[in-house]
Amino acid sequence: MSDIEARLQELRESGLYRRMRHVSGPQGSRVVLDGRPVLLLCSNNYLGLADHPRVREAAADAAMRWGAGAGASRLVSGTMTVHRRLEEALAAFKGTESAVLFGSGYLANLGVIGAVAKLAAAGAVAGPPVVFSDELNHASLIDGCRLARAETFVYDHCDVEHLAWGLRQHGGRPGLIVTDSVFSMDGDVAPLEELVELARGHGVRTVVDEAHGTGCLGPGGRGAVAEAGLEGEVDVVVGTLGKALGAYGAFAACSAAMRDYLTNTARSLIFSTALPPPAVAAALAALEVLQEHPEMVDKLQANAGVMRDELAREGFEVAGSCTQIVPLVVGDADLAMQVCEQAIEAGVFAQAIRPPTVPAGTSRLRLALMATHTRDELRAAARTLGRAALQAGFRPGAGVPLAAAQPAGHPDERLPAPLAGDDAAAAAA
Ligand code: PMP
Repeated sequence: MSDIEARLQELRESGLYRRMRHVSGPQGSRVVLDGRPVLLLCSNNYLGLADHPRVREAAADAAMRWGAGAGASRLVSGTMTVHRRLEEALAAFKGTESAVLFGSGYLANLGVIGAVAKLAAAGAVAGPPVVFSDELNHASLIDGCRLARAETFVYDHCDVEHLAWGLRQHGGRPGLIVTDSVFSMDGDVAPLEELVELARGHGVRTVVDEAHGTGCLGPGGRGAVAEAGLEGEVDVVVGTLGKALGAYGAFAACSAAMRDYLTNTARSLIFSTALPPPAVAAALAALEVLQEHPEMVDKLQANAGVMRDELAREGFEVAGSCTQIVPLVVGDADLAMQVCEQAIEAGVFAQAIRPPTVPAGTSRLRLALMATHTRDELRAAARTLGRAALQAGFRPGAGVPLAAAQPAGHPDERLPAPLAGDDAAAAAA
């Protein structure tokens, strides 16, 4: 057996083997999955904009007008009109002076954390910089911390006391606090006001990843930062274009000076080809549709409320979520997969998420609501999920409470949440 086969076998035996399922057609609320029609309950196409007629048309028009690709990094072959337009629109939407596009959210987080950590190091008189990172941050933030080669203090999930302790321990050292706004696997929201206040008090910067907040929360979908009244108060807000905005790519919303600095130092921006014009134009059209129809955001959150209520009626514990992301924690990886397969057979697709994407012992079905789901669809899906759980041998509500399954909250310094050796491929929800 080759080393590759041996490793794959190991993954199969531990219930962690992954394969890509085949979806026919666009990411609508109903899709054909491996030949079977299902309700799609795990796509981040939260507002249904990925297949909105105006968004598709904008992408097609842009392909005809500007071509399929951008040719090179914008620092090499120049920035295109459509890139500029989208950056201006995003800055206005996020209430910041400026914005700069990145190839993806993953690339944005790698580039931004590295650049901002270096900035902290440059002026350092009190020692090297420290990155303070929530233990449930997305893999791209974790990898950003690693690539920055800065010391990282991992604080317990949303635990401002632990963070404050960490900041005191590293007293006076420059640094930054990085956090998801909406946690991608749990659907809870970071205590942004307290984080910004702590950052101010300790003279460190803040980077907030609004991948799942942009278009989903806050006034007009401007995100959790706007909802907390912190527009313009966070040093860098990262947002993605591939989720609620239905296209592909990402951006950093920040001051004009920070934009200039990122353009000069963020390696994932400098050394990577610019976003293709059709993706940029699609995101721009999606942003316009969102601004014309802010009621889509209300519908999304109303749907999330309906789903949480219906799932609670089935006996599931969903109290940790307050957004469009609703985890059904099963615990064991194999069992979570079995629940997932049973649900697919009954017409509901909610992918099981296993380590290293989530901590060991907290495998789950991660439900992602869309504004385009109907209430009847959601009510029926909750019943289907309840039945699927029982058929797979899991009693809804018997999952491991999240707090119990996560690493103990003792105030020590930890590296970013450990990921298995092949983390990059796997942590891609
Ligand atoms: N941040 C978070 C919180 C995410 O969930 C994701 C993707 N799932 C990313 C960043 C990466 O974004 P992208 O898919 O655009 O690379």
